[in-house]
Amino acid sequence: MKKIALIGGGIIGQFTAYYLSQSGHAVTIIDDSPEMPPASAGNCGLITPSHIFPLNSWSTIWQGIKWLGKENAPLSLKPQFNQAFISWFLSFAKHSGNSSINKAAKIRHELLQLSFALYKEFFNSEINNSEWKTDGLLFASRTPRGMGGMKHEVEQLKKYGLKSRLLLKQELLEMEPMINQKAIGGAIFNTDGWLNPTQLLADIRDVNSKNGVGFVKANVLNFIADKRVIKSLNLPEQSFEADEYILCAGAKSIYFLNALGINLNMIPGKGYNLTANIPLPNQPKRPIVMVEKMVVFTPWETGFRLGSTMEFSGFNLSLNEKRLNALRDAASNYLNIDLKDVKFTPWAGWRPMTSNSLPMIQRTPKFKNLIIATGHGMLGLSMAPATGKIVSELISAP
Ligand SMILES: Cc1cc2nc3c(=O)[nH]c(=O)nc-3n(C[C@H](O)[C@H](O)[C@H](O)COP(=O)(O)OP(=O)(O)OC[C@H]3O[C@@H](n4cnc5c(N)ncnc54)[C@H](O)[C@@H]3O)c2cc1C
Repeated sequence: MKKIALIGGGIIGQFTAYYLSQSGHAVTIIDDSPEMPPASAGNCGLITPSHIFPLNSWSTIWQGIKWLGKENAPLSLKPQFNQAFISWFLSFAKHSGNSSINKAAKIRHELLQLSFALYKEFFNSEINNSEWKTDGLLFASRTPRGMGGMKHEVEQLKKYGLKSRLLLKQELLEMEPMINQKAIGGAIFNTDGWLNPTQLLADIRDVNSKNGVGFVKANVLNFIADKRVIKSLNLPEQSFEADEYILCAGAKSIYFLNALGINLNMIPGKGYNLTANIPLPNQPKRPIVMVEKMVVFTPWETGFRLGSTMEFSGFNLSLNEKRLNALRDAASNYLNIDLKDVKFTPWAGWRPMTSNSLPMIQRTPKFKNLIIATGHGMLGLSMAPATGKIVSELISAP
Protein backbone atom coordinates (compact mmCIF):
# COMPACT_ATOMS: atom_id res chain seq x y z
CA MET A 1 0.00 0.00 0.00
CA LYS A 2 1.30 3.44 -0.91
CA LYS A 3 0.51 6.84 0.55
CA ILE A 4 -0.63 9.02 -2.34
CA ALA A 5 -1.21 12.76 -2.59
CA LEU A 6 -3.50 13.71 -5.43
CA ILE A 7 -3.59 17.39 -6.42
CA GLY A 8 -7.01 18.32 -7.85
CA GLY A 9 -10.45 16.91 -7.09
CA GLY A 10 -12.09 17.47 -10.47
CA ILE A 11 -13.47 14.49 -12.38
CA ILE A 12 -9.98 13.23 -13.33
CA GLY A 13 -8.82 13.35 -9.71
CA GLN A 14 -11.99 11.68 -8.43
CA PHE A 15 -11.85 8.72 -10.83
CA THR A 16 -8.13 8.35 -10.15
CA ALA A 17 -8.78 8.26 -6.41
CA TYR A 18 -11.58 5.74 -7.02
CA TYR A 19 -9.37 3.16 -8.77
CA LEU A 20 -6.41 3.76 -6.46
CA SER A 21 -8.52 3.20 -3.34
CA GLN A 22 -9.94 0.04 -4.91
CA SER A 23 -6.36 -1.19 -5.31
CA GLY A 24 -5.80 -0.66 -1.59
CA HIS A 25 -3.76 2.57 -1.64
CA ALA A 26 -4.16 5.35 0.93
CA VAL A 27 -5.21 8.37 -1.12
CA THR A 28 -5.69 11.99 -0.09
CA ILE A 29 -7.15 14.53 -2.52
CA ILE A 30 -5.97 18.09 -1.98
CA ASP A 31 -8.11 20.76 -3.60
CA ASP A 32 -8.78 24.42 -2.87
CA SER A 33 -12.26 24.63 -4.43
CA PRO A 34 -13.68 21.11 -4.49
CA GLU A 35 -17.32 22.21 -4.84
CA MET A 36 -16.65 24.10 -8.06
CA PRO A 37 -13.82 22.60 -10.12
CA PRO A 38 -13.12 24.91 -13.06
CA ALA A 39 -14.26 22.41 -15.70
CA SER A 40 -15.74 19.27 -14.20
CA ALA A 41 -18.93 20.75 -12.74
CA GLY A 42 -19.92 22.96 -15.66
CA ASN A 43 -19.39 20.83 -18.73
CA CYS A 44 -22.10 19.62 -21.09
CA GLY A 45 -22.23 16.13 -19.60
CA LEU A 46 -21.63 14.29 -22.89
CA ILE A 47 -19.84 10.93 -22.86
CA THR A 48 -18.74 10.70 -26.46
CA PRO A 49 -16.88 7.66 -27.83
CA SER A 50 -17.61 9.21 -31.24
CA HIS A 51 -15.39 12.27 -30.61
CA ILE A 52 -12.21 10.62 -31.75
CA PHE A 53 -11.00 13.38 -34.09
CA PRO A 54 -8.85 16.12 -32.56
CA LEU A 55 -9.62 19.82 -32.74
CA ASN A 56 -6.40 20.19 -34.71
CA SER A 57 -6.97 20.82 -38.40
CA TRP A 58 -6.20 23.52 -40.91
CA SER A 59 -9.90 24.26 -41.17
CA THR A 60 -10.06 25.00 -37.39
CA ILE A 61 -7.13 27.40 -37.79
CA TRP A 62 -8.73 29.04 -40.81
CA GLN A 63 -12.07 29.34 -39.02
CA GLY A 64 -10.35 30.86 -35.96
CA ILE A 65 -8.66 33.47 -38.15
CA LYS A 66 -11.95 34.30 -39.92
CA TRP A 67 -13.69 34.81 -36.58
CA LEU A 68 -10.89 36.94 -35.07
CA GLY A 69 -12.41 39.83 -33.09
CA LYS A 70 -15.96 38.42 -33.32
CA GLU A 71 -17.00 38.15 -29.69
CA ASN A 72 -20.01 35.92 -30.25
CA ALA A 73 -18.31 33.47 -32.65
CA PRO A 74 -18.27 29.76 -31.60
CA LEU A 75 -14.45 29.88 -31.58
CA SER A 76 -12.94 33.08 -30.23
CA LEU A 77 -9.24 33.72 -30.41
CA LYS A 78 -7.87 36.77 -28.59
CA PRO A 79 -4.36 37.26 -30.02
CA GLN A 80 -1.92 37.01 -27.13
CA PHE A 81 1.70 37.91 -27.54
CA ASN A 82 3.07 35.80 -24.74
CA GLN A 83 5.47 32.91 -25.24
CA ALA A 84 3.07 30.24 -23.89
CA PHE A 85 0.35 31.11 -26.38
CA ILE A 86 2.67 31.47 -29.39
CA SER A 87 4.38 28.17 -28.64
CA TRP A 88 0.99 26.44 -28.16
CA PHE A 89 -0.36 27.87 -31.41
CA LEU A 90 2.72 26.82 -33.44
CA SER A 91 2.56 23.33 -31.97
CA PHE A 92 -1.21 23.15 -32.67
CA ALA A 93 -0.50 24.00 -36.33
CA LYS A 94 2.31 21.42 -36.44
CA HIS A 95 -0.16 18.73 -35.26
CA SER A 96 -2.80 19.69 -37.83
CA GLY A 97 -1.55 17.46 -40.64
CA ASN A 98 -3.17 14.15 -41.57
CA SER A 99 -0.63 11.86 -39.92
CA SER A 100 -0.88 13.68 -36.54
CA ILE A 101 -4.69 13.72 -36.77
CA ASN A 102 -4.82 9.96 -37.47
CA LYS A 103 -2.37 9.21 -34.66
CA ALA A 104 -4.39 11.31 -32.19
CA ALA A 105 -7.67 9.71 -33.36
CA LYS A 106 -6.32 6.22 -32.69
CA ILE A 107 -5.22 7.06 -29.13
CA ARG A 108 -8.41 9.01 -28.36
CA HIS A 109 -10.49 6.11 -29.67
CA GLU A 110 -8.78 3.66 -27.32
CA LEU A 111 -9.18 5.93 -24.30
CA LEU A 112 -12.82 6.67 -25.10
CA GLN A 113 -13.72 3.00 -25.60
CA LEU A 114 -12.10 1.97 -22.34
CA SER A 115 -13.80 4.83 -20.50
CA PHE A 116 -17.25 4.00 -21.82
CA ALA A 117 -16.89 0.39 -20.70
CA LEU A 118 -15.69 1.55 -17.28
CA TYR A 119 -18.60 3.99 -16.93
CA LYS A 120 -21.02 1.10 -17.53
CA GLU A 121 -19.23 -0.98 -14.90
CA PHE A 122 -19.18 1.97 -12.47
CA PHE A 123 -22.91 2.64 -12.76
CA ASN A 124 -23.71 -1.07 -12.48
CA SER A 125 -21.64 -1.62 -9.40
CA GLU A 126 -21.63 1.67 -7.47
CA ILE A 127 -24.43 4.12 -8.13
CA ASN A 128 -27.16 4.71 -10.61
CA ASN A 129 -28.28 8.23 -10.05
CA SER A 130 -26.11 10.61 -12.07
CA GLU A 131 -28.84 10.70 -14.77
CA TRP A 132 -26.67 8.47 -17.00
CA LYS A 133 -28.31 7.67 -20.34
CA THR A 134 -27.03 5.98 -23.49
CA ASP A 135 -29.57 6.94 -26.19
CA GLY A 136 -27.08 8.62 -28.52
CA LEU A 137 -26.26 12.18 -29.47
CA LEU A 138 -28.12 14.19 -32.15
CA PHE A 139 -26.59 16.81 -34.42
CA ALA A 140 -28.80 19.34 -36.23
CA SER A 141 -27.51 21.37 -39.16
CA ARG A 142 -28.87 24.31 -41.12
CA THR A 143 -26.32 24.49 -43.92
CA PRO A 144 -25.00 22.27 -46.72
CA ARG A 145 -21.52 22.93 -45.34
CA GLY A 146 -22.56 21.61 -41.91
CA MET A 147 -24.09 18.52 -43.53
CA GLY A 148 -20.90 17.99 -45.56
CA GLY A 149 -18.79 18.02 -42.39
CA MET A 150 -21.06 15.44 -40.73
CA LYS A 151 -21.10 13.22 -43.82
CA HIS A 152 -17.31 13.14 -43.76
CA GLU A 153 -17.25 12.35 -40.04
CA VAL A 154 -19.84 9.56 -40.31
CA GLU A 155 -17.78 7.94 -43.09
CA GLN A 156 -14.56 8.24 -41.08
CA LEU A 157 -16.16 6.74 -37.95
CA LYS A 158 -17.12 3.62 -39.90
CA LYS A 159 -13.41 2.80 -40.22
CA TYR A 160 -13.26 2.59 -36.43
CA GLY A 161 -16.44 0.49 -36.20
CA LEU A 162 -18.36 3.35 -34.55
CA LYS A 163 -22.06 3.47 -35.30
CA SER A 164 -23.48 6.75 -36.60
CA ARG A 165 -25.55 7.86 -39.56
CA LEU A 166 -26.77 10.93 -41.41
CA LEU A 167 -30.43 11.87 -41.01
CA LEU A 168 -32.60 13.50 -43.64
CA LYS A 169 -34.66 16.44 -42.42
CA GLN A 170 -37.84 14.36 -42.07
CA GLU A 171 -36.12 11.65 -40.06
CA LEU A 172 -34.42 14.20 -37.81
CA LEU A 173 -37.68 15.97 -37.02
CA GLU A 174 -39.46 12.69 -36.38
CA MET A 175 -36.73 11.63 -34.02
CA GLU A 176 -36.85 14.95 -32.20
CA PRO A 177 -39.88 17.13 -32.95
CA MET A 178 -38.46 19.99 -30.84
CA ILE A 179 -35.88 20.70 -33.57
CA ASN A 180 -36.88 23.68 -35.69
CA GLN A 181 -38.13 23.23 -39.28
CA LYS A 182 -35.21 25.33 -40.57
CA ALA A 183 -32.81 22.42 -39.97
CA ILE A 184 -31.93 20.78 -43.28
CA GLY A 185 -30.76 17.49 -41.73
CA GLY A 186 -28.57 16.01 -39.06
CA ALA A 187 -26.86 12.92 -37.73
CA ILE A 188 -27.13 10.52 -34.85
CA PHE A 189 -24.07 9.19 -33.02
CA ASN A 190 -25.48 6.01 -31.47
CA THR A 191 -22.36 5.22 -29.47
CA ASP A 192 -22.72 8.24 -27.19
CA GLY A 193 -24.37 8.95 -23.87
CA TRP A 194 -24.76 11.71 -21.32
CA LEU A 195 -25.14 12.36 -17.60
CA ASN A 196 -25.43 15.16 -15.10
CA PRO A 197 -21.82 16.15 -14.31
CA THR A 198 -22.57 18.00 -11.07
CA GLN A 199 -24.49 14.99 -9.79
CA LEU A 200 -21.71 12.63 -10.90
CA LEU A 201 -19.14 14.66 -8.96
CA ALA A 202 -21.29 14.54 -5.84
CA ASP A 203 -21.89 10.79 -6.29
CA ILE A 204 -18.26 9.83 -6.86
CA ARG A 205 -17.11 12.01 -3.96
CA ASP A 206 -19.52 10.03 -1.73
CA VAL A 207 -18.24 6.69 -3.04
CA ASN A 208 -14.63 7.80 -2.54
CA SER A 209 -15.27 9.01 0.95
CA LYS A 210 -16.94 5.67 1.82
CA ASN A 211 -13.89 3.90 0.37
CA GLY A 212 -11.66 5.85 2.75
CA VAL A 213 -10.24 8.51 0.39
CA GLY A 214 -9.04 11.44 2.50
CA PHE A 215 -9.59 15.07 1.64
CA VAL A 216 -7.73 18.28 2.48
CA LYS A 217 -9.16 21.64 1.43
CA ALA A 218 -6.10 23.72 0.64
CA ASN A 219 -4.32 25.56 -2.10
CA VAL A 220 -1.20 23.64 -3.13
CA LEU A 221 1.50 26.27 -3.47
CA ASN A 222 4.34 24.19 -4.86
CA PHE A 223 6.19 20.88 -4.87
CA ILE A 224 9.35 20.44 -2.81
CA ALA A 225 11.78 18.26 -4.75
CA ASP A 226 15.24 16.90 -4.08
CA LYS A 227 17.03 15.75 -7.22
CA ARG A 228 14.69 13.16 -8.86
CA VAL A 229 12.30 12.79 -5.92
CA ILE A 230 9.30 14.86 -4.83
CA LYS A 231 9.62 15.19 -1.05
CA SER A 232 6.45 17.06 -0.11
CA LEU A 233 3.78 19.56 -1.08
CA ASN A 234 3.79 23.05 0.27
CA LEU A 235 0.35 24.11 1.55
CA PRO A 236 -0.39 27.49 3.23
CA GLU A 237 -0.39 26.10 6.77
CA GLN A 238 1.40 22.77 6.54
CA SER A 239 3.41 20.56 4.30
CA PHE A 240 2.10 17.22 3.03
CA GLU A 241 4.31 14.18 2.52
CA ALA A 242 3.49 11.09 0.48
CA ASP A 243 5.17 8.20 -1.35
CA GLU A 244 3.67 9.19 -4.71
CA TYR A 245 2.23 12.44 -6.08
CA ILE A 246 -0.37 12.75 -8.83
CA LEU A 247 -0.99 16.06 -10.57
CA CYS A 248 -4.53 16.42 -11.91
CA ALA A 249 -5.18 20.10 -11.38
CA GLY A 250 -6.82 20.67 -14.79
CA ALA A 251 -5.79 23.79 -16.71
CA LYS A 252 -3.87 25.10 -13.69
CA SER A 253 -1.55 22.07 -13.78
CA ILE A 254 0.55 24.12 -16.18
CA TYR A 255 1.76 26.38 -13.33
CA PHE A 256 3.20 23.36 -11.50
CA LEU A 257 4.63 21.81 -14.67
CA ASN A 258 6.41 25.06 -15.55
CA ALA A 259 7.82 25.36 -12.03
CA LEU A 260 9.08 21.74 -12.18
CA GLY A 261 10.63 22.26 -15.63
CA ILE A 262 8.31 19.72 -17.32
CA ASN A 263 7.34 20.61 -20.85
CA LEU A 264 3.68 20.49 -21.89
CA ASN A 265 2.07 22.80 -24.43
CA MET A 266 -1.20 23.49 -22.67
CA ILE A 267 -3.39 26.60 -22.33
CA PRO A 268 -6.86 27.22 -20.89
CA GLY A 269 -9.75 27.00 -23.39
CA LYS A 270 -12.65 28.84 -21.84
CA GLY A 271 -16.17 27.50 -22.24
CA TYR A 272 -19.52 28.90 -21.08
CA ASN A 273 -22.82 27.50 -20.00
CA LEU A 274 -26.31 28.58 -18.99
CA THR A 275 -28.01 26.13 -16.65
CA ALA A 276 -31.71 25.95 -15.76
CA ASN A 277 -32.74 23.96 -12.70
CA ILE A 278 -36.25 23.26 -13.98
CA PRO A 279 -36.82 21.18 -17.13
CA LEU A 280 -38.78 22.74 -20.00
CA PRO A 281 -42.19 21.28 -20.81
CA ASN A 282 -41.57 18.91 -23.78
CA GLN A 283 -37.82 19.53 -23.80
CA PRO A 284 -35.74 17.47 -26.29
CA LYS A 285 -35.15 13.92 -25.09
CA ARG A 286 -31.51 13.67 -26.17
CA PRO A 287 -28.63 16.15 -26.19
CA ILE A 288 -28.52 18.15 -29.43
CA VAL A 289 -25.44 19.72 -30.98
CA MET A 290 -26.32 22.80 -33.05
CA VAL A 291 -23.67 22.29 -35.66
CA GLU A 292 -22.95 25.75 -37.08
CA LYS A 293 -23.00 27.39 -33.62
CA MET A 294 -21.15 24.61 -31.73
CA VAL A 295 -23.74 24.92 -28.95
CA VAL A 296 -25.02 21.90 -27.05
CA PHE A 297 -28.42 21.45 -25.42
CA THR A 298 -28.28 18.80 -22.67
CA PRO A 299 -31.54 17.63 -21.06
CA TRP A 300 -31.80 16.24 -17.54
CA GLU A 301 -34.72 15.25 -15.34
CA THR A 302 -33.62 18.11 -13.09
CA GLY A 303 -33.30 20.80 -15.78
CA PHE A 304 -31.16 21.49 -18.83
CA ARG A 305 -27.97 23.19 -19.94
CA LEU A 306 -26.87 25.22 -22.96
CA GLY A 307 -23.14 25.03 -23.23
CA SER A 308 -19.84 24.93 -24.98
CA THR A 309 -18.07 27.45 -27.31
CA MET A 310 -14.31 27.93 -27.10
CA GLU A 311 -12.45 31.09 -26.15
CA PHE A 312 -8.68 31.40 -25.99
CA SER A 313 -8.19 34.43 -23.75
CA GLY A 314 -5.83 33.22 -21.04
CA PHE A 315 -6.65 32.51 -17.41
CA ASN A 316 -9.72 34.71 -16.97
CA LEU A 317 -13.19 33.62 -15.90
CA SER A 318 -15.10 36.82 -16.70
CA LEU A 319 -18.59 36.22 -18.08
CA ASN A 320 -18.86 37.78 -21.54
CA GLU A 321 -22.53 38.68 -22.12
CA LYS A 322 -22.19 38.41 -25.90
CA ARG A 323 -20.98 34.83 -25.65
CA LEU A 324 -23.70 33.91 -23.15
CA ASN A 325 -26.33 35.47 -25.43
CA ALA A 326 -24.94 33.44 -28.33
CA LEU A 327 -25.85 30.25 -26.41
CA ARG A 328 -29.39 31.46 -25.83
CA ASP A 329 -29.80 32.69 -29.43
CA ALA A 330 -28.60 29.39 -30.88
CA ALA A 331 -31.10 27.42 -28.79
CA SER A 332 -33.98 29.75 -29.70
CA ASN A 333 -33.13 29.43 -33.41
CA TYR A 334 -32.49 25.68 -33.65
CA LEU A 335 -35.14 24.43 -31.23
CA ASN A 336 -38.86 25.03 -30.76
CA ILE A 337 -38.43 26.22 -27.22
CA ASP A 338 -39.37 29.43 -25.46
CA LEU A 339 -36.62 30.69 -23.15
CA LYS A 340 -38.27 33.99 -22.26
CA ASP A 341 -39.16 33.12 -18.67
CA VAL A 342 -36.31 30.68 -17.99
CA LYS A 343 -34.06 31.54 -15.06
CA PHE A 344 -30.49 30.65 -16.02
CA THR A 345 -27.33 30.51 -13.95
CA PRO A 346 -24.35 31.56 -16.11
CA TRP A 347 -20.96 29.89 -15.73
CA ALA A 348 -17.52 29.87 -17.36
CA GLY A 349 -14.68 27.37 -16.92
CA TRP A 350 -11.37 26.26 -18.40
CA ARG A 351 -10.68 23.17 -20.44
CA PRO A 352 -7.03 22.05 -20.19
CA MET A 353 -6.19 22.27 -23.92
CA THR A 354 -3.01 20.57 -25.12
CA SER A 355 -1.66 21.51 -28.53
CA ASN A 356 -2.03 17.95 -29.92
CA SER A 357 -5.51 17.25 -28.45
CA LEU A 358 -4.12 14.37 -26.38
CA PRO A 359 -4.01 14.17 -22.59
CA MET A 360 -0.76 13.55 -20.73
CA ILE A 361 -1.14 10.45 -18.53
CA GLN A 362 2.32 9.28 -17.50
CA ARG A 363 5.11 9.07 -15.00
CA THR A 364 7.53 11.91 -15.59
CA PRO A 365 11.10 10.88 -16.42
CA LYS A 366 12.25 13.87 -14.35
CA PHE A 367 10.79 12.77 -10.98
CA LYS A 368 10.37 9.13 -10.16
CA ASN A 369 7.40 9.56 -7.80
CA LEU A 370 5.30 12.02 -9.86
CA ILE A 371 2.51 11.12 -12.26
CA ILE A 372 0.78 13.68 -14.49
CA ALA A 373 -2.86 13.21 -15.51
CA THR A 374 -4.10 16.29 -17.28
CA GLY A 375 -4.72 17.95 -20.65
CA HIS A 376 -8.04 16.26 -21.46
CA GLY A 377 -9.33 19.32 -23.31
CA MET A 378 -12.91 18.88 -24.53
CA LEU A 379 -13.13 15.24 -23.40
CA GLY A 380 -12.18 15.09 -19.72
CA LEU A 381 -15.55 13.79 -18.60
CA SER A 382 -15.55 11.16 -21.35
CA MET A 383 -11.99 10.04 -20.58
CA ALA A 384 -11.98 10.23 -16.77
CA PRO A 385 -12.51 6.55 -15.85
CA ALA A 386 -9.85 5.36 -18.32
CA THR A 387 -7.42 7.95 -16.98
CA GLY A 388 -8.04 6.86 -13.40
CA LYS A 389 -7.58 3.21 -14.29
CA ILE A 390 -4.31 3.86 -16.18
CA VAL A 391 -2.88 5.94 -13.33
CA SER A 392 -3.82 3.29 -10.80
CA GLU A 393 -2.02 0.66 -12.92
CA LEU A 394 1.06 2.90 -13.19
CA ILE A 395 1.14 3.25 -9.40
CA SER A 396 0.63 -0.45 -8.74
CA ALA A 397 3.19 -1.60 -11.36
CA PRO A 398 6.27 -3.13 -9.72
C1 LIG B 1 -18.16 24.41 -21.29
C2 LIG B 1 -17.48 23.06 -21.26
C3 LIG B 1 -18.14 21.95 -21.76
C4 LIG B 1 -17.54 20.69 -21.74
N1 LIG B 1 -18.25 19.61 -22.15
C5 LIG B 1 -17.72 18.36 -22.05
C6 LIG B 1 -18.48 17.22 -22.39
O1 LIG B 1 -19.66 17.33 -22.73
N2 LIG B 1 -17.87 15.99 -22.33
C7 LIG B 1 -16.56 15.85 -21.92
O2 LIG B 1 -16.06 14.72 -21.92
N3 LIG B 1 -15.82 16.92 -21.54
C8 LIG B 1 -16.37 18.17 -21.59
N4 LIG B 1 -15.65 19.27 -21.20
C9 LIG B 1 -14.25 19.08 -20.77
C10 LIG B 1 -14.15 18.56 -19.32
O3 LIG B 1 -15.05 19.27 -18.50
C11 LIG B 1 -12.71 18.74 -18.81
O4 LIG B 1 -11.80 18.16 -19.70
C12 LIG B 1 -12.55 18.05 -17.45
O5 LIG B 1 -13.55 18.48 -16.57
C13 LIG B 1 -11.18 18.33 -16.86
O6 LIG B 1 -11.20 17.79 -15.56
P1 LIG B 1 -9.97 17.97 -14.56
O7 LIG B 1 -10.29 17.18 -13.36
O8 LIG B 1 -8.71 17.71 -15.30
O9 LIG B 1 -9.94 19.54 -14.27
P2 LIG B 1 -10.85 20.49 -13.36
O10 LIG B 1 -12.27 20.16 -13.45
O11 LIG B 1 -10.42 21.87 -13.73
O12 LIG B 1 -10.38 20.14 -11.90
C14 LIG B 1 -9.10 20.50 -11.42
C15 LIG B 1 -9.17 20.64 -9.92
O13 LIG B 1 -7.87 21.03 -9.46
C16 LIG B 1 -8.00 21.99 -8.45
N5 LIG B 1 -6.78 22.80 -8.35
C17 LIG B 1 -6.17 23.49 -9.35
N6 LIG B 1 -5.07 24.12 -8.87
C18 LIG B 1 -5.00 23.80 -7.55
C19 LIG B 1 -4.09 24.15 -6.49
N7 LIG B 1 -3.03 24.95 -6.70
N8 LIG B 1 -4.32 23.67 -5.24
C20 LIG B 1 -5.40 22.86 -5.00
N9 LIG B 1 -6.27 22.49 -5.96
C21 LIG B 1 -6.08 22.97 -7.20
C22 LIG B 1 -9.22 22.81 -8.89
O14 LIG B 1 -9.82 23.48 -7.79
C23 LIG B 1 -10.13 21.74 -9.46
O15 LIG B 1 -11.03 21.23 -8.51
C24 LIG B 1 -16.22 20.54 -21.22
C25 LIG B 1 -15.56 21.66 -20.68
C26 LIG B 1 -16.18 22.91 -20.69
C27 LIG B 1 -15.45 24.07 -20.08
